[in-house]
Amino acid sequence: MTLAFGDAAHDAAAAARAVPDVVTDASGDPLAQAAELGAGAPVLAFDVGGTDIKSALFDAEGAMLGLRRTPTPEPGADLPERLVARLVELGAQLREEHPEVDPVAVGLVVPGIVDEVAGVGVFASNMGWRNAPIRQIAEKAFGLPVAFDHDVRTGGWAEHVLGGARPYPDSIVLIIGTGIAGALLLGGVPFTSGGYAGEVGHSPVADAPLCACGARGCLEAIASAGAIARRYTERTGVAVDGAKEVIALAGAGDEAAAAVWEEALDALALSIAQLTAVIAPQAVVIGGGLSRAGGALFDELRARLKARLSFHRIPELVPAQLLGNAGILGAALRARSLG
Ligand SMILES: [Zn+2]
Repeated sequence: MTLAFGDAAHDAAAAARAVPDVVTDASGDPLAQAAELGAGAPVLAFDVGGTDIKSALFDAEGAMLGLRRTPTPEPGADLPERLVARLVELGAQLREEHPEVDPVAVGLVVPGIVDEVAGVGVFASNMGWRNAPIRQIAEKAFGLPVAFDHDVRTGGWAEHVLGGARPYPDSIVLIIGTGIAGALLLGGVPFTSGGYAGEVGHSPVADAPLCACGARGCLEAIASAGAIARRYTERTGVAVDGAKEVIALAGAGDEAAAAVWEEALDALALSIAQLTAVIAPQAVVIGGGLSRAGGALFDELRARLKARLSFHRIPELVPAQLLGNAGILGAALRARSLG
């Protein structure tokens, strides 16, 4: 679903015209109700990303109503205020469409470094804010209590409560797409350390290449789906349609593709091996675009972990189950936890 940026009234009109309860992400995966929230307080939930906002209303039975995807306001100095104003508009639309549901709290998740205790967006490169008191701004604008948290951490928690990490209170969630985002769940609770924990994508595994964050040899600079496609093109001059094509080329005997894919697998295995030795998670839950590689990813990583480790308890490697809905389901769960 592609929506151009426009003024708020245009966006609202477009959203009202085309508001499927089930939408699809860019890859065509259904973002349907993969998991039910269950009974609890009715809440509004927002999952804000660099390009779009997912919003929905959850009723007392836990049904997700009016799920929609609309563009994120463009970055700028006053983005926190403009973003919250947009969320209030989206919330008002949802309440108008479902007057029988009276939300008692709001769940709001955003990318970047998030201090969920203080309610502050510490930093987000794609949003351009620093130390923004977003929870306070949102509580004032909505007139409701707001649970404010990090998108992937909250999505990881939702995977534990509702999805692929359910049997594993000690787990690590890796979302491998354009970058690599991570979340640690220890004893079933997200471990945050002021918002800085879980950045598995920016753990160093090599001396090169340079990462978008400014450091060298970060895992995501080698093993994200974005890096795999980019590194193949750098080596061959051949443009490809994402990591999926590189993996297919590797399977078909293309040497450059095989080398790039092997390096990505080795880097991921090294990182998971380190996490295994230090944290000993019961499971590593892998989502994002690269997880669609299936056995080409999961079987290869299992074999590499086995070869690299000895006495360690090798974690289960399981695919994430909530697809693109982990963030918004997590936001709803967080909002309910306020009650
Ligand atoms: Zn980095």
